This record gives sequence, C-alpha cells and structure tokens, in this order.
Amino acid sequence: MDVNGTLVWYYKICKREVYLMSHGIVPDQEDDNIEIGRFIHENYYRRNDKEIRFGNVVFDVVYQDGNKLVIGETKKSSKFLEASKWQLMYYLKVLKEAGIEASGVLQYPEERRRVEIKLTDENIKELKKIEAEIIDITNSKVPPKIEECIYCKNCAYREYCYA
Ligand code: SF4
Repeated sequence: MDVNGTLVWYYKICKREVYLMSHGIVPDQEDDNIEIGRFIHENYYRRNDKEIRFGNVVFDVVYQDGNKLVIGETKKSSKFLEASKWQLMYYLKVLKEAGIEASGVLQYPEERRRVEIKLTDENIKELKKIEAEIIDITNSKVPPKIEECIYCKNCAYREYCYA
C-alpha cells in the first residue's frame, strides 16, 4: 500500500489506526465525527475550492497566491492541528519531489481560523522516517498494540479496540 496523507494524519494520532485503515477495516460509519467532517467538506467550501488529485494524494484546496501555489486542507476542528500539519507537509513534500514549490494552509471554518504551513529540510527528514514506519506498520501481520491515548474516547475505532 502506498503512503498517503491520510495515513500520515493517522500516524500522528495513533499507529494502530494506520494499520486498521490500511487493512480496509472501516470505522463506525454512523460516528458523529465522521458525519460532521464530511458535512463541512461538502458544504463550507464547495463553491470556492477544487479537489485536486496529484499522484496518490488529494488536496482539498488549491489556489494561486501571486506566483505562489498554495494547497490546503479543510478540517472541522483544530483539535488535531499537529496531525493535520504533518498531513499537509507530506503533500508539500510530494509536490516538491515533483519540482513544484508550494506552501500550505489549514482551514477551520467552524473556528474561522487559518494556519499557514511551510516545509523545512528538518520536516522532510522526519517525513521520510514517518513514511518508512507507515510502510512497516501496513506490512505487518498484526496491528500495533492498543496504547490508550487522549484520542481513544472519540475514535471511530473505539468499539473495535475496546469491545
Ligand atoms: S481507539 Fe485508541 S487505540 Fe484504538 S485505534 Fe482509536 S486511538 Fe487507536
């Protein structure tokens, strides 16, 4: 399985989620968190933004700011800001590898907040490590052990992990 931005996001939340997602174990589709995320994606930015596929990654928001390309992600809450930053930096790295310099922006419509993201050499090194670990996790025969964390309470996999 190819590494993609969603797996990078999950990696920063919970490595077990990386395994479950990559093995097609679908989370609870009735979960409110999933429903709200889909709603925001489909409604808040539908008229202004395009979804662009580039290789195995998809950007929620792409626009030109002067002569600079800006890509972005729309999220329902900045609660997962750190994971979202790494997801977007992964996209910036994919573009950079294709010779396209870009910057990023995270948009939180419910909070009326924007966070600008830039890719550094240090980030690129860290992303390479993350990619290698994601590949190890997805190739593993068993999921990583449950490590209870602050995200378990609202995780769509909680029934699967704790039933
Ligand atoms: S419930 Fe907790 S351990 Fe299980 S996938 Fe979600 S965050 Fe990870």
